[in-house]
Amino acid sequence: APTTLDGFLDRCAGEFPDRPLVLTDDRTATYAEIAAWSVRLADGLAALGVRPGDRVGVLMANYLEFVPLKFAIARAGAVAVPFNFLYRRDELAYVLAQSRCAVLVTMTGFAGLAHPEMLDEIAPGWTEGPTDALPELRHVVQFPTDGRSVPGVRTLDDLAALGDAHPGGAAAGAAAPDDLGDILYTSGTTGSPKGVMVTHDAVLRTAYASALTRAFEDGRRILFSLPCYHMFGYVEGLLAAMVVGGAIVPRTAFAPADYFASVERHRATELLAVPTMTVALLEHPDRRTRDLSSVFALLSGAAPAPVGLWEKVRDELGITEMTTGYGMTECGGAMTMSLPEDDLERHSATVGRPKLAGVAGLPGGDLCAYTTIDPLTGDPLPDGGEGELVSHGPTHMLGYWEKPAETAETLRADGVHSGDLGRIRDDGYLQLTGRSKELYKSGGELVMPKEIEELLTRHPGVSQAYAVGVPDERWGEVGCVWVVPEPGADVRPDDLIALCKDKLARFKVPKHVLLTTAEELPTTPTGKVQKFRLARRAAERLS
Ligand code: ATP
Ligand code: MG
Repeated sequence: APTTLDGFLDRCAGEFPDRPLVLTDDRTATYAEIAAWSVRLADGLAALGVRPGDRVGVLMANYLEFVPLKFAIARAGAVAVPFNFLYRRDELAYVLAQSRCAVLVTMTGFAGLAHPEMLDEIAPGWTEGPTDALPELRHVVQFPTDGRSVPGVRTLDDLAALGDAHPGGAAAGAAAPDDLGDILYTSGTTGSPKGVMVTHDAVLRTAYASALTRAFEDGRRILFSLPCYHMFGYVEGLLAAMVVGGAIVPRTAFAPADYFASVERHRATELLAVPTMTVALLEHPDRRTRDLSSVFALLSGAAPAPVGLWEKVRDELGITEMTTGYGMTECGGAMTMSLPEDDLERHSATVGRPKLAGVAGLPGGDLCAYTTIDPLTGDPLPDGGEGELVSHGPTHMLGYWEKPAETAETLRADGVHSGDLGRIRDDGYLQLTGRSKELYKSGGELVMPKEIEELLTRHPGVSQAYAVGVPDERWGEVGCVWVVPEPGADVRPDDLIALCKDKLARFKVPKHVLLTTAEELPTTPTGKVQKFRLARRAAERLS
């Protein structure tokens, strides 16, 4: 039956009180402990004056404390706004002001990134209480990490103690399943991050569907460094594990050696990874020396996977249950997945099919339905032909937080217009071919960057290629490809253009090829390449 995030935790704690929920190197917390802790923190938030619907910002890596805090915010009826902790000052200033948070909980330290002292720069003279820059921010709570704490700022332990002094305060704020539970910012791959409003029920349904689709049995232990401010770690890691009384092994940062050591120490059964992480794991020597016998599953998603990745995962990591997922923050997490029993072709050539629904009293069938439309005219395409993917389902967002124009553009009567291009195969599996915002028109003809990129990355001297459109007096726009050569390779732009002339129709042949390095590529903090910045950079370079 539908419930709230805190109701879900209580249900799990009732069923599996003594099982571990969070495993870290020095501590283990059981379901019952996390539930009790979340009550204290929720009462503390209520005692600070947090009211239903107030936003509580969270700037914290995957520490154990994130889990009780996340559920405490729900229990107080407030809205959690977990921020990307890799944001630099200006990005943090933007999201803090845009979300109008009443309270910010932030870690201290962490390699000099976001921490309370940074607030001083965003809102000069900030102590306790609102300032011109952040008129609604009433309190900051710090979570000391790396042995550092800022004098005079309340800690997370202080917040729990405050709750102990005012027990029962949070009960008045209880939320309903259809209430707003989270505002999660999109990755910012195509522009400024947007705050996606999702309900308690939406993320829980997505998590239940995930456990069903991934054929979870008892005792899953999911290891991930993907941050819980993003749907991937939050829904596919934390919430999905809880559905079957499993545990999570959260890591605060990604490092292959740490992944392998943690698998061995905690006997993890499953890994979450974006493709760049999987590639790094495959390249690391520790995969041979560590005992990885407990791991049998890997869930990949969030970005396109290179050709041939899955064979390597099977052959070199010994992982037999592979799933690939595709979704977006706006849909309430991953919407499609391959099934564990699918063959390699489905795992590698597609992003799966709509997740299976129908557990815990929820309706059965598929979690959502996909159609495709012509990206230029918006006309529906028959038979799922290649176009923009539109999804329709019960977990989709309420809208973007305080962005009505963007909401109207994305959330339409027929569903969420994804901005992703793809096709729906006869077997119901989705194939992605790019993003509509990344298409450009040359001489009136629409160009799909992916086609050029795939051609160039097959060239032995090319490691990565990104095609963008740049303004051109004669053709409107022409293609410009940023190429990262393989280490030590001697690639010449003219040769690559010649290769395109040989293989592609004339309007698709890029006019420019610019060489760059992997380090210079503009990316989101989660490692997605930002083509809108590459396009701007190309236009500047070529003007
Ligand atoms: P923004 O909307 O701010 O530009 P974003 O779209 O990258 O950023 P997210 O919601 O985190 O923000 O990511 C969703 C997008 O990620 C999808 O729309 C899709 O383009 C891409 N994506 C997700 N899963 C996959 C996958 N398995 N393969 C390829 N791309 C994927
Ligand atoms: Mg997006």
